[in-house]
Parts: sequence; structure tokens; C-alpha cells
Amino acid sequence: MTDPILFANVRILDGTGAHPVSGSVLVEGKRIRAMSRSNGALASGGALVIDGAGATLMPGMCEAHTHFSWNDAATLAGIQTMPLEEHVLWCAKVAKRYLEAGFTSCVGAACAKPRLDVVIRNAIDAGQIPGPRYLAASQEITVLGALGDETLPHLPFPEFSFGVNVSGAEEMRKAVRMFLKYGVDSIKLNLSGDNFTPQSPAETSWMTDAEVAAAMEEVRMRGKRGTAHARSAESVKQALRHGIQVIYHASFTDEETLDMLEAAKDRVFVAPGIAILYAMLHEAEAYGITYEKACAMGYQIEWDHALESLKAMHRRGVRVLPGGDYGFAFTPHCQNARDLEFFVKYLGFTPMEAIRCATLYGGQIMMRGNELGTIQDGYLADLLLVDGDPLASLAILRDPKRILAVMKDGEFAKAPEFSAQRRWEHAA
Ligand SMILES: [Zn+2]
Repeated sequence: MTDPILFANVRILDGTGAHPVSGSVLVEGKRIRAMSRSNGALASGGALVIDGAGATLMPGMCEAHTHFSWNDAATLAGIQTMPLEEHVLWCAKVAKRYLEAGFTSCVGAACAKPRLDVVIRNAIDAGQIPGPRYLAASQEITVLGALGDETLPHLPFPEFSFGVNVSGAEEMRKAVRMFLKYGVDSIKLNLSGDNFTPQSPAETSWMTDAEVAAAMEEVRMRGKRGTAHARSAESVKQALRHGIQVIYHASFTDEETLDMLEAAKDRVFVAPGIAILYAMLHEAEAYGITYEKACAMGYQIEWDHALESLKAMHRRGVRVLPGGDYGFAFTPHCQNARDLEFFVKYLGFTPMEAIRCATLYGGQIMMRGNELGTIQDGYLADLLLVDGDPLASLAILRDPKRILAVMKDGEFAKAPEFSAQRRWEHAA
């Protein structure tokens, strides 16, 4: 076992929403063993001392809507046609980058080939490759004509499709059982359309209740979790009716949808992924999507509705988490912490609330809320040492130079280059 590690002289931002305090934190093995809310109170005997020189120590962040296998391409076909061998290597590389960027937990929200997520999760857990704690998703399961069905009339082969196409409850059951056999943690259903695919826009809904019920019966039987791509109000309601726990997007809501979300707030999580809506409107011109084209695709209408929906969820206490749909050309991987800034700028969260969503709620969506997501005695030592005050500027959380150290399970994924004290002395 490695020596204990003492983070001394740090500003502890514990993830609960409590105001930061100066102090020190002792890590032993995988866990936080002691915390002091004053400097120098913890004995450092035998411990490696990291002098934070006033840097912020906070819990590792959670990305609630992760697609390691999206390969920063501008189209679904560009992701899907990457050969499997390269795709595995890509995912491994991206997993390492997320961890080093401060995301010590990631919730898989669908992968581009059947076993990509499972293989990467297993390799991380076995210590073969570095990466965050990871919940492995299935491919997207969809129906003909909906988001994820990329087959062409003259090329009706499943390998050409981004998602797995099913028709009817029994085909759904078979697809779900296949992914459960492979060992996924969650099954992803595309309940609504998406403005990215004009034949199935965001406000449309696609699956029958019989199909969703068959999927969720299998999911429950194996003790796993259902997740949904649900942009339309009807699809959010359908997800809630069937006990789906993680709802992605939830852009369009009506009063009934919001009431249902509020009633289920202790068991559901919403991970909207609003950055991609913003990017499609304002940052995708280089990929042929001008603002005018994005408006014609429906993105301005969706953005306006999503902001109102998510503000209402925030007011009603629904757990809304940052992250989502990074891995396209217009939303490249590892800018994910930008979502925290968007929560403040567009959704009315305070910086403290945005951080709590990425940490406290992150532990909960990882199904480890009793030992992950906040800095507490006995909790898993997933920690970030950040140069500066994220409450004053959330942007530092997406600046690699400001992430001084990343720890997962008590081990440095990114070790401090030298003590922050020396670093700051040099800077002075
Ligand atoms: Zn997604």
C-alpha cells in the first residue's frame, strides 16, 4: 500500500453546498480518512504532504451523459464508420483524457458499437487503462425511421446503423437481453427524435408503450437501469411512466411533465446536455450549419424551450446534472465542464449549485451516494486540486493548467508537478 497523502493548506470545497473552509485532508488507501478545518491540525507522520498553498480541493466531477465512442466527427455516420479496432483505442484515449480533465466519474449514455462501453469499463476496473469510474451503456436502441436508424433503403444492413433498430416488444426484448448479456450497466432507449436528424425532429416520439415496457421488464429483472433520449414532452412522460431513471435532454415539457418529474425527483436524474444546442446554433458554421440553418432545423425553438424547462426543474428540486453529448466536432471532448458555466449563465443556478450538481449529485447518479461525490471522512478519495476559486470562475475547471492534480481511489491520475507552494513562489 502506498503512503498516506496529506493535502495541507487547501481550501476545502466539499461538494455539499457548504461554504469552503481552509484546512487539510488526509487520504489513506482509497479513502478520505480525516479532515481538519484548520491548518496544521492533522498529523502528517509518514504521509506525503502536498502543500496546496491555498488551492481548492474539491471532489472529482461527474459527467452524467458521456459518449466515449463519439469520435469528434460532425456526423453520426462519421462516428459509426470508424473501424472497431481504431474505435477501441479511441475510447481508451478519451477515457484517460476525461480523468485527467477532472472527471473521476462518467455515466455512459450510449456507445457506437455494441460492446465498446463494456470493454472500456472492464479495462478501467481491471487497471489495464486509466479512466474514470464508468457506468457502461448499451448502444442506442431505436425504431425504424427514428434517431439512430442510419440504414439506407438500398443498404438495410444493421452495421450501417448508429443505433440498434427494433420493431415490436419481442425484438426489443431480444436487443435488451443481448446488451445485458454483454454486461452493460444501463440500457439506452431513443424515445424521442432529435433535430440533428430532420426525419425525426426533437418534438416527435417514437416508441410504443409495449416496446418500452418490454425493455424495462428485462432491465428490472437483471437489476440494471433504463435511460432515455427524451426531448419531447410525451417522451419524458413515457420515460417516467415506465420507471426510467436517467432522462437525457428533457427539452420540451408541459405542466403535467414537470409535475411528474417533481413527483419522481428522488429517483430520477435529468442530464440535458445543453451545450450541443448552443453549439449547433452558434458554433457549427465551420461544419456547414449556419445560425439560419440551425434555426431551420429547430434548434432556436428547442433552446428556448429547454431553458424554460430546466429552470422550472431547478425551481422544483429535480436533480439536473451537467454534461452531455460531447464528442461531436462542434462539442469536442473534454470541454464538458463548460456545462457548469451554462447552468449559471442560462439556467439560473448559482456557481455553488452547479458544482454540487457535478459532485454531490454525481455520486448519486453513480449509485454510490453514500461514499462518493463529496469530501467526507470515509468517502472514496476522488479529488481535484484546483488552482484558484471555481466559485469565482467556473471556467478554470476546463483549463488543464488550472487542474493541478486529479486523484481517483486515492491514487493520482494527474500528480501535482511540484508543490503548489513552490509553483506560486515561482509565479510571484
Ligand atoms: Zn447523448
